[in-house]
Amino acid sequence: MRKLFTVFVFAFITLISFHGGAQGRYSLVIHGGSGNISRERMSLEQEAVYLEKLNEALQAGEAILKEGGSSLDAIVSAIKVLEDSPLFNAGKGAVFNYEGRNELDASIMDGSTLQAGAVAGITNVKNPITAARKVMEQSSHVMLTGRGAEQFAFEQGLEIVDPSYFFDQRRWDQYREYLRNSTQLRGVADPDNKMGTVGAVALDMHGNLAAGTSTGGMTGKRFGRIGDSPIIGAGNYANNQSCAVSATGHGEYFIRNVVAYDISAQMIYLGKSLEEAGNAVVMEKLKEQGGDGGIIAVDKDGNVAMPFNTTGMFRGYIKSTGETKVSIFE
Ligand code: ASP
Repeated sequence: MRKLFTVFVFAFITLISFHGGAQGRYSLVIHGGSGNISRERMSLEQEAVYLEKLNEALQAGEAILKEGGSSLDAIVSAIKVLEDSPLFNAGKGAVFNYEGRNELDASIMDGSTLQAGAVAGITNVKNPITAARKVMEQSSHVMLTGRGAEQFAFEQGLEIVDPSYFFDQRRWDQYREYLRNSTQLRGVADPDNKMGTVGAVALDMHGNLAAGTSTGGMTGKRFGRIGDSPIIGAGNYANNQSCAVSATGHGEYFIRNVVAYDISAQMIYLGKSLEEAGNAVVMEKLKEQGGDGGIIAVDKDGNVAMPFNTTGMFRGYIKSTGETKVSIFE
């Protein structure tokens, strides 16, 4: 009897310690861009449409996580929902550059292997996040740009579209207005008119983190300009030792401050929590420099952070505990 009891206690302790970490739990966080949007400029109907799309993306990702699927599959699935929607500045809803064309950037990182993939300046791949993933998994490189990236995506069997697929009347009107109001030099991007970059980060039941980001960049950007979204460490980063981060905001500031990596590094080297590290970078460092934007992040224990220093950021999360929330304003 005593022996049986000892075996039972041992089995119980083993079970507890297996579930003690993040194992068995999952978290998914998404964003649809940050910017200076105010409640007054958005109707309740518009707000509802955005929130519904964010929920749809969370559900697409969660369906994978709750079956024990990988964080990589979950973030790609959530990002594709946002890329396919004209509401966000990625995929179908990408903004126009100064020449009136769409140039798209995306990146992905696997926190368990530190493998990463990115594409920049592409014009005809329907879902840029899938091209970033192919670069990570099917090439020996980390980043491909322009025609080289498009050729690779085609060879990998990804869906190729005519560049006119990315035409969207609302984005075109924003671009025309930008040109009318722009007294600036040719190709100076408009940081106030770029909202809607998308991203997703996740922790899966196996304790693996992943991050993905996809964007059309900034309205009126110079052709060939590449922002932070496809730059590993700036707009995107994942490391199982710390966290997964996806950024949105004025890309040049995020590149100079190596934002996503800085958050992870502050956790590893300074022992900060995800919240402390995220706030130090977004609410202090970037804010002091005038670097508008925000980040979403999840740490290896499933904690979520979504700091932003603008008036709004389309964002949401869902956890295995059933906790979920989508919001836009502060
Ligand atoms: N970070 C993106 C870029 O600079 C834009 C954004 O997130 O709004 O290309």
